[in-house]
Amino acid sequence: MDNCLFCKIVANKISCFKVYEDNNILAFKDIEPIAPVHILVIPKKHIQSINELELIDKGLAGELLLKGQKIAKDQNIDKNGFRLIFNTNDNGGQTIYHMHMHIIGGRQMKWPPG
Ligand code: AMP
Ligand code: ZN
Repeated sequence: MDNCLFCKIVANKISCFKVYEDNNILAFKDIEPIAPVHILVIPKKHIQSINELELIDKGLAGELLLKGQKIAKDQNIDKNGFRLIFNTNDNGGQTIYHMHMHIIGGRQMKWPPG
């Protein structure tokens, strides 16, 4: 997608602090972290949001979760705990319309979120 910030990051047109990469997935540090660990995990394929996820993407969706698990372990936040979040559309607080999973950890989270 031409006008998508995260597609530009995938294409190396905009730099990022890479944490993990394979053929299908890229993970990088959030530019405005809200916790000591704040990483975004994205499919390289442009999918606007969870709303646009299709059955054909089920392997990819599973990989996102499993990479979230691996990255949390690598970042040493797995034992104390962490959060995986997919903000979706306006009410969900989504600002970038390329589906992404936030991994946040390294501090106590509150519930309910704001
Ligand atoms: P959301 O509000 O769920 O759409 O999340 C978008 C996230 O992308 C926010 O937490 C931003 O801080 C983050 N972000 C925006 N631009 C960049 C960038 N160039 N590199 C890394 N993270 C970014
Ligand atoms: Zn995109």
